Amino acid sequence: MKSKADVVVIGGGSTGTSIAYYLAKLGVDVVLVEKSYLGSGSTFRCATGIRQQFTDEANIKLMKYSVEKWKTLSEELEYDINFKQTGYLFLATTEEEVEAFKQNIKLHNKFGVPTRLITPEEAKEIVPPLNADEFLAGQWNPTDGKANPFKTVFAFARKAKELGAEIYEYTEVTDIIVENNETKGVKTNRGTIKADAVVNAANAWAPIINEMAGLDKEFIPIKPYKHQLVKTEPLKEGQIEPLVCPPAWNDSYLLQDGEDGGVLCGTGLEYGPTYDMTPTYDFLREVLKWATRIIPALKYAHVIRQWAGFYAKTPDSNPAIGKINYIDGLYIAAGFSGHGFMMAPAVGEAMAELIVKGKSKVPLDWEWYDPHRFERGELRSTAFQIG
Ligand code: FAD
Repeated sequence: MKSKADVVVIGGGSTGTSIAYYLAKLGVDVVLVEKSYLGSGSTFRCATGIRQQFTDEANIKLMKYSVEKWKTLSEELEYDINFKQTGYLFLATTEEEVEAFKQNIKLHNKFGVPTRLITPEEAKEIVPPLNADEFLAGQWNPTDGKANPFKTVFAFARKAKELGAEIYEYTEVTDIIVENNETKGVKTNRGTIKADAVVNAANAWAPIINEMAGLDKEFIPIKPYKHQLVKTEPLKEGQIEPLVCPPAWNDSYLLQDGEDGGVLCGTGLEYGPTYDMTPTYDFLREVLKWATRIIPALKYAHVIRQWAGFYAKTPDSNPAIGKINYIDGLYIAAGFSGHGFMMAPAVGEAMAELIVKGKSKVPLDWEWYDPHRFERGELRSTAFQIG
């Protein structure tokens, strides 16, 4: 194992591997350490969804840029990560929601996201087995999509290594070395790596890393909440290609996996804060209640898997991204709630440029995501957070 690098990235999920790749692309000597295997945190447990449909300017702009990156990511990484623009379809059950959709659409359109209001009949054309009678209207953006998280992490890591990065799996950071308020490296269970810059991309575990650097655990109050998914056996392609979500039904959502056509079903039932990842029977009952109401034919599909992961939540459900001002050379990109996978290409590029150049061309609103906002008692409007 290397004992010295320019930058150490802690965490091998979509965020960490993306940051490592973009750093390596800028010619930085970077090491990524992952305590288990790459993707083992939340990334391999996510619902694969990628959307620009947020309810605030900062997240819409960041995701619009991220989607532009997703479109060319397979080409850039020279590996097909299976990004597909199959859309996101939100469904309204009340007139109040229809009004809220109209406001959202105005905001999306203002920043160039082509969301529009559609009728239940149009929604049924997009999702043939939809129980359209239950809904009044849809908020539809065909340019949202999905990608394969396994292939994405693999592709970022492979390309980063090709560009000179070192990636160490089963290597746990046990301490951050700080001298005179400057980052000097990390201690791991396999030895010390000296570095003048360290990036905390440990998401649900980020507060533990902050504490290692001598910061208060509550300084950036990220808490792990257990969220779950079930997946059905593969269904015929083209049935539920977009992510479909009636927010009023406990934020329940479903979509066909872009790889094998199995249906991923999630719902808002969450547990925590907890680091327990055991799937629960209550979730299975709850999620299937809603999924079969959205798509009645799912009653006949077999569930083949259920699993849990974490929404790493800040008090406003927006991530903490940027420099930690108390310790030179310490950075964080963590607390991504239900939207870290989709943001990874944009966040990785922005963080790499921030570390190397002190600024970035990525339209990331650093003030919005400022890691110091919590200690100032500032909260942003809550980010809409389904998968
Ligand atoms: P992680 O993938 O959690 O990676 C952090 C890594 O840090 C872990 O691998 C961990 O092992 C490692 N680590 C921790 N401590 C240490 C240490 N001391 N030393 C070394 N390594 C360490 N997002 C979307 O964009 N779209 C979706 O559709 C979506 N659906 C979701 C559905 C569910 C059920 C869940 C649970 C999440 C979903 N998310 C979704 C959220 C998404 O999974 C996360 O926001 C994203 O994966 C975060 O990536 P990350 O790299 O920041 O964190």
